[in-house]
Amino acid sequence: MDQNVGHFVLVPFFTQGHLIPMVDLGFVIAQRGNNRVSIIITPFNLTRLQTTVDFINRSGLPIDFIPLRFPTEELGLPKGCESVDVLPTENHLLNFHQFYKGHAMLAEQLETYIRQRQQINPSIPTIIITDFMNSWTRRISDKLSISRFGFCIVSCFTWHLRELFQEYDNNSDGDLVISDVDHRIKLILPKGFVLGSSQDQEYIRSDIKDVENSVHGILVNTFYELEPIFVDKYRKMTGKNVLPIGPLLLCHDSNMDKAIRGARSLVEKNKILKFLDSMDPASVVFFGVGSIVILSMIQIKEIGKGLEESGYPFIWVIKCFNDDMRNGVEEWLRNDRLEERTKTRSFIIRGWAPQLMIISHASIGALFTHCGWNSTLEGISVGIPMIAWPFSEDQFPNMTFITQIAKTSIGIDIDEEPVYSPNYTVKSDTITKAIERVMNGGEEGVERRKRALDLKDAAIAAFDVAGSSHTNMSFFLRQIFNKV
Ligand code: UDP
Repeated sequence: MDQNVGHFVLVPFFTQGHLIPMVDLGFVIAQRGNNRVSIIITPFNLTRLQTTVDFINRSGLPIDFIPLRFPTEELGLPKGCESVDVLPTENHLLNFHQFYKGHAMLAEQLETYIRQRQQINPSIPTIIITDFMNSWTRRISDKLSISRFGFCIVSCFTWHLRELFQEYDNNSDGDLVISDVDHRIKLILPKGFVLGSSQDQEYIRSDIKDVENSVHGILVNTFYELEPIFVDKYRKMTGKNVLPIGPLLLCHDSNMDKAIRGARSLVEKNKILKFLDSMDPASVVFFGVGSIVILSMIQIKEIGKGLEESGYPFIWVIKCFNDDMRNGVEEWLRNDRLEERTKTRSFIIRGWAPQLMIISHASIGALFTHCGWNSTLEGISVGIPMIAWPFSEDQFPNMTFITQIAKTSIGIDIDEEPVYSPNYTVKSDTITKAIERVMNGGEEGVERRKRALDLKDAAIAAFDVAGSSHTNMSFFLRQIFNKV
């Protein structure tokens, strides 16, 4: 048996923020040794990832997407509802619960697939890498006696906070003392905040714990030098071999390669690049709130006003989750004429944007972000300061991390904190002020930018050959082949 050949079966949770880093992980594993990678997918998500699939086919990487039928019908969900961002917005919580349950219903199909592959190639070991929300994969690894590792798409800082949280009094003044951090941290959280999913989603927390307890080791999309204290704390907390192997997005190195992540963008990438090329270095603000944050029409108008009044060039991604929203946005853009007034310095993208390609461009000066871990790590890896505007979940710890620990970014300044809630509208002047502060922050701003660039260098060094993440990946692969 060739000691270096393994068949890695990657089982993502179906939302862009989980799927994108899982596919990146597939790229990295497929480039090492003679490994084969199978990424479990569903028909809707496969169609969406067509640009990625085409790229893989062209590059000859040994990655297969394995489409399994997602049981939307049995769950009472509309046809094609195979990703969080396409779930109907009415009764969202209930729909999400059904959607979540649907993942476990893939178990039988996944087991059949793995058995078939094992029959074809009995000498090649199978290894499951599971998303933290797919605790059901345990039954398959137990039944077939195969190794199973967890893939964590949030930071170790976040998981460490989860432990501290049990003692943290939400009604306190918000100060948090973290041992080994030389200053007090102020956590800004919405009332009743629970980390690891909202209060009525206890099932997610218990699944995450189950994965942590049952896997052979945990791969984390972070890098050791970014959060050494918290990687160590998370290791201690779980008693597991926690291996930071990121930032995985650094496996994409050309513009083309960076533009293939996630869904297909309707905007021609050359048009965006032409716009960026025509702008001064570090002058453009990129505004995007990820793949699932739903903004009200009132909020969208305030953002538009805030971006315009800042006077800076901007790229703004507007995502609509249904036709009503789409029509409302288009009607407002038509009547308000924002695009016309700012036409020499703005680029508005409807739907999906090639975010990584854009923010890697030298003209981007800041990332206005909701602080999903992927976007946060992308901002860190390209070395730009961020303006953090979190909405839910780990986005709050991520804001805390980049503003108070890494100190590369600022938080959006909202007086009546913690007011982060779907019903609260952040006013345009708050947005304008935040942009001014980050783009033209005097000496403090210069220091912030310098720290951001230092962190980018550290990220690149970690991911490079012989860097900590590269070494951890080698260790992970060696460990597998020594075991199986
Ligand atoms: N993303 C993108 N284009 C978009 C929106 C999002 O490429 O128009 C990518 C973004 O770069 C990141 C991921 O989708 O890699 C979103 O993950 P994140 O954790 O930031 O936020 P979530 O969408 O899970 O809230």
